[in-house]
Amino acid sequence: MSQPAKLVIRNIGSILTGRLEEPVLERDCVVAENGRIAAVGREAELDTDNATTVIDANGVWLAPGLIDSHVHPVIGDYTPRQQQLNWIDSCLHGGVTTMISAGEVHMPGRPKDIIGLKALAIASQRWYENFRPSGVKIHAGAPVLEQGMEEHDFKELAEAGVTLLGEVGLGSVKAGETAGEMVKWARKYGIQSTIHTGGPSIPGSGLIDADTVLAADADIIGHINGGHTALPDAQITCLCESCRRGIEIVHNGNERAGLLAMRTAFELGQPERVILGTDAPAGSGVQPLGILRMIAMLSSLGDIPAETAFCFATGNTARMRGLDCGIIEPGRAADFVFLDTAQHAPGGDMLASIRLGNLPGVGMTVIDGVVRSARSRNTPPATRLPEVVGG
Ligand SMILES: [Zn+2]
Repeated sequence: MSQPAKLVIRNIGSILTGRLEEPVLERDCVVAENGRIAAVGREAELDTDNATTVIDANGVWLAPGLIDSHVHPVIGDYTPRQQQLNWIDSCLHGGVTTMISAGEVHMPGRPKDIIGLKALAIASQRWYENFRPSGVKIHAGAPVLEQGMEEHDFKELAEAGVTLLGEVGLGSVKAGETAGEMVKWARKYGIQSTIHTGGPSIPGSGLIDADTVLAADADIIGHINGGHTALPDAQITCLCESCRRGIEIVHNGNERAGLLAMRTAFELGQPERVILGTDAPAGSGVQPLGILRMIAMLSSLGDIPAETAFCFATGNTARMRGLDCGIIEPGRAADFVFLDTAQHAPGGDMLASIRLGNLPGVGMTVIDGVVRSARSRNTPPATRLPEVVGG
């Protein structure tokens, strides 16, 4: 047996845990073994011997790698939607280490017959399982519901390794009742679901209103703030109040509606339901800093602590979607982003600068205990930078 890979991160300023119950933890050291977090504590008290990699955090913040709950990947690190290469690598430079597909809908010539859509879903699941662009974990293979699908189709998809549905409403199934039956079949076989909420996104797609969303009862109320066109305010608050499903707020939506949904979740005492996505690539393009921008937008305009907003894009998403990352605690995947105050940002420290609406600087990312990127080429420069010092 070869020696296990052991990562030691020392000299951490503070930890953003990803847990709403305790979003900030004053500890200076994290140890990971074979890609999993083994210990979180003070360096003097932890076993840091025989590390294969040592990172000196140089006093910056350590956060879980960010999770984008809503992307539309197609193949590899290329999107036909905006003819763009390396968009996933660019998002890694924005701190995102995990992405969840809401449907590979931008595949040119996307099959809409049932055997064809199943084949595409299974192939997409495989090619992103077999190939992680720049190390980013892409959970894909999310079929779009079409008329005529039957229970056995969902069983076959699940048996073939499909775990997600694409946005309900993007295909020919628009009625809440039909969608609800299919969502139930999906759930029965362990497949998670999300729904397109709001007005049509591009010519050819349609309106999904609150009644349809409630009747479909998908696990996630996909882009509750529209993609782009949001529902009327009363329907957004009604959705939050009438069910316990995930409240997903996306970058490519209506910011005012996103703030309304977040505030409603807090009024209901249910902030754990709020999760974040970009809904990219899309007509709005690709936003490598989209998740960081959402955190800064919700914290500054929504007047909530920045450390709370980070939980929306980490622990909340991980818990809601059953992922093993998103929280800094023993047993979880060693997926991290190192952050610090952007150079010359006001506020005095990183969290204060974010609450003023500024982005932090990304200094490094780690996925499964392996350094994947150093200083971000996309964020404003971080004041201090972590450094690999040994191993
Ligand atoms: Zn959508």
